[in-house]
Amino acid sequence: MPYFINVILPIPLEKLFTYSISDAEASFLKPGMRVAVPFGKSKIYSALVHEVHQTAPTIYEAKEIDQILDEKPIVTAIQLKHWFWIADYYMCSIGEVFRTAVPSAFLLESETLILKNTKIVFDETTLLDDEFLVFEALQHQAILRVHEISAILDRKNVLPVLNRLLDKNIILLKEEVYEQYKPKLVRYVKLGKEYRTEVGLETLLHSLTRAPKQSQVILSLFQLQATQKKPIKVSELETASKSSTAIIKALIDKEILEEYYIQTDRISYSNEEDNSDIKSLNEFQEEAFLAIKQSFDKNLPTLLYGVTSSGKTEVYVKLIEETLAQHKQVLYLLPEIALTTQLITRLQDYFGEKVAVYHSRYSVQERVEVWHNILENKNKAQIVIGARSALFMPFTNLGLIIVDEEHESSFKQYDPAPRYHARDAAIVMAKLHEAHILLGSATPSIESFYNVQIGKYGYATIQRRYGNVLMPEIELVDIKEQTRKKRMKGRFSVRLFNEITDTLENGEQVILFQNRRGYAPILECTTCGHSPQCPNCDVSLTYHQHKKQLRCHYCSYHIALLTACEACGSSTLDTKGFGTEQVEQELETLFPDAKIGRMDLDTTRGKYGYEKIITAFEQQELDILVGTQMLTKGLDFRNVNLVGIMSADTLLNFPDFRAHERCFQLLTQVSGRAGRTKKRGKVIIQSFNPYHQILKQVSTGDYQAMYQEQLYEREQHKYPPVNRIIKITFKHKEYNKLNEAAEWFTKGLRNAFGVHVLGPEFPSVSRIRNQYIKNVLIKIPNGQSLVKTKKSIRRLEKSFNAISQYASVRVIYNVDYI
Ligand code: ADP
Ligand code: ZN
Ligand code: ZN
Repeated sequence: MPYFINVILPIPLEKLFTYSISDAEASFLKPGMRVAVPFGKSKIYSALVHEVHQTAPTIYEAKEIDQILDEKPIVTAIQLKHWFWIADYYMCSIGEVFRTAVPSAFLLESETLILKNTKIVFDETTLLDDEFLVFEALQHQAILRVHEISAILDRKNVLPVLNRLLDKNIILLKEEVYEQYKPKLVRYVKLGKEYRTEVGLETLLHSLTRAPKQSQVILSLFQLQATQKKPIKVSELETASKSSTAIIKALIDKEILEEYYIQTDRISYSNEEDNSDIKSLNEFQEEAFLAIKQSFDKNLPTLLYGVTSSGKTEVYVKLIEETLAQHKQVLYLLPEIALTTQLITRLQDYFGEKVAVYHSRYSVQERVEVWHNILENKNKAQIVIGARSALFMPFTNLGLIIVDEEHESSFKQYDPAPRYHARDAAIVMAKLHEAHILLGSATPSIESFYNVQIGKYGYATIQRRYGNVLMPEIELVDIKEQTRKKRMKGRFSVRLFNEITDTLENGEQVILFQNRRGYAPILECTTCGHSPQCPNCDVSLTYHQHKKQLRCHYCSYHIALLTACEACGSSTLDTKGFGTEQVEQELETLFPDAKIGRMDLDTTRGKYGYEKIITAFEQQELDILVGTQMLTKGLDFRNVNLVGIMSADTLLNFPDFRAHERCFQLLTQVSGRAGRTKKRGKVIIQSFNPYHQILKQVSTGDYQAMYQEQLYEREQHKYPPVNRIIKITFKHKEYNKLNEAAEWFTKGLRNAFGVHVLGPEFPSVSRIRNQYIKNVLIKIPNGQSLVKTKKSIRRLEKSFNAISQYASVRVIYNVDYI
């Protein structure tokens, strides 16, 4: 009897496709291996084997495969199960999950663009004949498609050759032409050459008897050298000697100290013997640790609610240590932006080369390497740290998943499909692996806290900051009143201004938060009221002063700054609202001596922009850092004593049922950057509405009150966590067609689900990149089957697609929409 395989194609096909294979291939192929297969008229794809069987397809005649691409499965059975769950739950195709899950090098297909890697030098004579032909072709033509290479080699099966060339780093894939991610350079110090001998040192200390502060630094350096064998960071020396940047700089200038930089390497980590000791936990951490273990014993996913700077990371480290001792792998997930070298280095200090990072900023070769290391359970990949896509890695022996900052909405993929929530998908994955899972946050999501209340999750908490540092003192400033009393300096209340002044005088640092980038979100004509709009999107253009441009934050559209109103010609243009750029500019005038940095999408785009700013701030080369919510993510700065929220109002007034929860989380997280060491930090929140319940709850750190109130609201209006929701988005470039189509679909939904259907409605930005957008929300009460609900939606979609004039309308599902 003939043999067949079902394969997963990396495209949005609903069904698996069947190909025929020979007897020999049938005994070799296993689920999880890739094969190159023809598809359609002339396409070739890398497809994933799902099943080997003997049932011929009934509708079409099975084609033969072109080639087997793997010797062994590159995807495990558990992964496949998990991916099918994701496709099913989040209403997308398994092919879309496959495409997202694996490094793009695994997905070579006829349309893939190939380039040569200009950065590599190698011996051409080591190439096999077919490899050489490809290499040579790329000397003449910068970019080749895979099917063109087929023509050059005069054969169908070129994917194996290309895979070999990729392995050898000789070619690159087009979409992989990005900036190589490089970790920051850390500044270290050592004694100057002359003083490294005993005699030299004695002479030095003698000469410094009149400079007690400087000699304190030297003595501290000596002590540090004796107790730890690794290089000494400038920041460490500063803390240990209780001195200042200025004193150390003076010593460097005098060449008594020598500064140098080390690049913390990301994949290979050589100083294994230099591992720091894992810190012993204090009583609060210990208590939480035990509670977590008890909950793990009951096989419950567990939430760790620990206030900012309570030492959650150290608790994770203990759990990781235990898991490693049982020879199991650990997955540590966190939001992309929180994946800083700060954290990576901290883990590498403890676990050395066992730490692997899976990062979208890494090259495809590095990602492939990490993939194989995990699959083969190598020592190098016992702890995998990464953003949400690390969830798709081929663990074979997973023991623990940590989801840090579990409340973060960036765990939910927005576009393209699969629109999965990494935290929730991780819970399912833990179950498949029989692994434990810990969710950690200083501001747990309402969903997770609710799951604790109903007994679905276990619970542990740390309510004290480590070292008994007090939570920052939070003060609300009424800017309406301050404006009336003329006590504002630009965007700064006198309170905030004075606090900044004091903080700077104390040699401490300031963080200022404003949730908008650019100079001002709106430029408005004071004569006729017109404000310039994006021609492609339904939004005003944001004014960027540095670049003298008006820019759309939804598409790439931008124009030079207007000098007169487009509508009436008047030159009386004024701005409304303000962004980080304006704050920065006002600071420059108000605090001319301060060194000011800005962290938002505009300043972090360039090469290593983000790391550079963090490092500069960490090394105290900046006094004030102004930024958007990028500032909030788990950064641990030692010398920040004041955090200012320029305006809380935009956060409060956002039209979304999660707005208040988000506002609480964001403000609490930013506030948590203040006073993480001995001294109590200070936070000033400016608002037109300082008596708002949420701001009060932030200022008193009353998570419980926020939770109760928000839960009540959600219960009243049937939102998550008491109900589930699916959002359906319709998109089309024609306004009328979109309206009609959305109406048609919604009518069908209403027939099925009645009052639980909301919409269709235009979102606040109702057109993006020339596509009109309309949303429908379906609430699914507890007790209503999610499976059946999705089935009837799918059925409706089939009828919808059968209507020819709606065929071009895009329908997008977002299950558990955030
Ligand atoms: P969180 O993740 O809860 O915000 P961190 O884990 O970053 O807090 O801890 C805050 C600071 O306290 C860090 O600098 C950390 O090194 C220190 N710390 C936490 N726990 C301990 C401990 N048990 N021993 C020594 N230092 C600790
Ligand atoms: Zn005008
Ligand atoms: Zn636009």
